Amino acid sequence: MIRDLKVKTRKGDIITPFFMPIATKGAVKNLTCEEVGALGAQIILSNTYHLHLRPGEDLIEKAGDLHEFMKWDGPILTDSGGYQVFSLAKIRKIKEGGVEFQSPYDGGTKHFLTPEKAIDIQLKLGSDIIMVLDVCAPYPCSKGEALDALATTTDWAKRSRDYFDEKMKDVPEEERPLLFGIIQGSVYDDYRARSAKEILEIGFDGYAIGGLAVGEPGKEMFKVLDKVLPLLPEDRPRYLMGVGKPEQMLEAGKKGIDMFDCVLPTRNARHGYLFTGLDLEEDLSDVRYKVVRINNEKYKEDFGSLDKTCQCPTCQKYTRAYLRHLYMSEEPLFMRLATIHNLWFYLDLMKRMRDV
Ligand SMILES: [Zn+2]
Repeated sequence: MIRDLKVKTRKGDIITPFFMPIATKGAVKNLTCEEVGALGAQIILSNTYHLHLRPGEDLIEKAGDLHEFMKWDGPILTDSGGYQVFSLAKIRKIKEGGVEFQSPYDGGTKHFLTPEKAIDIQLKLGSDIIMVLDVCAPYPCSKGEALDALATTTDWAKRSRDYFDEKMKDVPEEERPLLFGIIQGSVYDDYRARSAKEILEIGFDGYAIGGLAVGEPGKEMFKVLDKVLPLLPEDRPRYLMGVGKPEQMLEAGKKGIDMFDCVLPTRNARHGYLFTGLDLEEDLSDVRYKVVRINNEKYKEDFGSLDKTCQCPTCQKYTRAYLRHLYMSEEPLFMRLATIHNLWFYLDLMKRMRDV
């Protein structure tokens, strides 16, 4: 069943389940943080990897912190940078207790990320939920590869816990950020169970299930959730990283996941794909919706609102014909209006799941 948990952060409580809009480089693309808050977001996610490379955590610390820099007063979760290092950096190598990689921004300057450094960066950013550095194995991967990633993830999780505790020893508990561990193990049941056991033994404020939504079939993803979720404590939030589609979030929410993030609503908006007609069965047995491709000729003279069932600011005012025109003319306003609508859709789905 859908869980109803209060995640207490130093920037306020968050009610589960919830979706975190992604502010990759310190901005949810095309919107101000004020606008994101007005759509109902309780928390924003930002990417350590991108902010570390540009403008750098030292500059953001000089500005006060990331809240002050991007003008968002609510909670912020930052990832550890690991996922991007392993997926974006063309050249990276695990060595001497960390990972070396080349920046894609400036012709390849070398950077070295360790579990300790990932925490330092996130502390400087002023993150309220800090993720430990982990190794996300690709899909598909051999058992050997999965085991290596798992073992390094556990080792780094221990180092992260120790380092964080040392840094926080003089900080009153209510002023500390939360620290989340990440469970790996690819699609192998025994490795997932082992990773969960090792990460739980170290002990964290919340638990993320990583290494999913990396190309595996949906069935495999839910199999992993069925294996891992029963092992996790009831009183700690569970975060399914990088997922997903509305039907996946509903299914995962029913299985006991509390936290979601995904680029889909914002990225699809920019490409003219709009989620419409949200229809959630009262017993949560199903969620129905349609994806409107706004460039379709049939919307050329469609003066109805984008989505009659939607209460978002875009749908209160603008017609499909106007939105299509903006899209075809490549007007930047399209991206704003489309992002507002798609984010509303995702946040509204979460609200409806909470209200059941
Ligand atoms: Zn709308």
